[in-house]
Amino acid sequence: MSDAIIVLNAGSFSLKFSIYGVANRELNLVARGQIEGLGTSPHFKAKDQQGRSLAHASLGGSMPGFGHPEAFAHLSVWARQQFGGKFSPVAVGHRMVHGGTEFTSPTLIDAEVLSRLERLIPLVPLHQPHNLAAVKGVIQLRPDLIQVACFDTAFHRTKPKVADRFGLPDEMFGQGVRRWGFHGLSYEFIAGQLRRIAPDISAGRVIVAHLGSGASLCAMKDGQSVDTTMGFSALDGLPMGTRCGNLDPGVILFLLRQGWNVDRIEDLLYKKSGLLGISGMSNDVRVLLASDRPAAAEAIEFFVHRIVREIGSLTAALGGLDALVFTAGIGENSPVIRQRVCKGLAWLGVHIDPDANGHGSTRISPAGQSPSVWVIPTDEEAVIASHTLAVVRALKGGPQEETRLCRLTD
Ligand code: ADP
Repeated sequence: MSDAIIVLNAGSFSLKFSIYGVANRELNLVARGQIEGLGTSPHFKAKDQQGRSLAHASLGGSMPGFGHPEAFAHLSVWARQQFGGKFSPVAVGHRMVHGGTEFTSPTLIDAEVLSRLERLIPLVPLHQPHNLAAVKGVIQLRPDLIQVACFDTAFHRTKPKVADRFGLPDEMFGQGVRRWGFHGLSYEFIAGQLRRIAPDISAGRVIVAHLGSGASLCAMKDGQSVDTTMGFSALDGLPMGTRCGNLDPGVILFLLRQGWNVDRIEDLLYKKSGLLGISGMSNDVRVLLASDRPAAAEAIEFFVHRIVREIGSLTAALGGLDALVFTAGIGENSPVIRQRVCKGLAWLGVHIDPDANGHGSTRISPAGQSPSVWVIPTDEEAVIASHTLAVVRALKGGPQEETRLCRLTD
């Protein structure tokens, strides 16, 4: 029987999971899926490494008491039935949104760490409580499992202070009102892939465009974050599927004076803005590109405009640009968005080969062209699994050699 690592990514209404088998120095994805509809009508889905369905089932009608602990319990029973003779879980790796200044690397979760993570909840009230609910669910059911927290903010702690600040009184910086940056696990994965694929480029000045339903850019020098578009929260920077992106704080003051309360403003900024808000029809780039409605075209135009502007800004922060990398749902799958962004960056010497772009090749700029342009699929779960295994090995006093991550297919 092989060891297995479970990766959990807990959201407000869902628990996403991946299960990796550990064999020698390799982590192999064996299943990936999610339980959606927590607190309402939970639904369980799982696929194998090739994307074939392993499970697709409603877990019952109205189940308001079915939260993260119940979801982990269901996952455990299913995994035992599915893989019981082959794999035995030894650890759970969690995606943890906020690590503050204290947690800058993957951390073994014990009672002390758990209470320090709880103290960070005011910084991310919409996300961290769910991440921690999943940790507690595992403690309730399987206190024997090692648990490791991997942080979305950690990759950005190499940013210089000047890129971490707002133009607010200095004491607020100390209180945590600073530009933390997010999507760090994705950027860490891309930095690692780039080091492997193009080591000379990864040592230079690179901008990574993580364009998914959440979107941000990260400027890296020698594989380390020096600046990023997301700030204190996951609202800042680029417009996203339903989030506003960069916004003059005067707008919030205006809305408050108009009688809007915090909940209504929060709902507007997180759920009703961005591509959905501008188009009035969808948060999905595919739907907007297929539409002939002027509002859909305007939403796409705004999205591309903001990406191009922010890449210009981060290029200035880097003092030049050697490579641009597209990743995440839109970045990996939309040749049209890549082409339009690159067209807007022609002044910077960015050119792409239309065929390579259409085929989604790894390198989509012509050979010898600088800045070079790349499409690299991201895999945050693989980063978490790899860190979790490293912690397990350290605890067991085993060999600390780097784990080879098998390429994952969705
Ligand atoms: P997240 O992990 O943040 O939920 P993803 O990185 O999976 O997001 O990206 C999801 C988004 O990717 C969807 O909102 C969808 O708009 C976009 N997407 C997926 N495939 C395509 C495609 N072929 N063309 C354009 N956009 C796509």
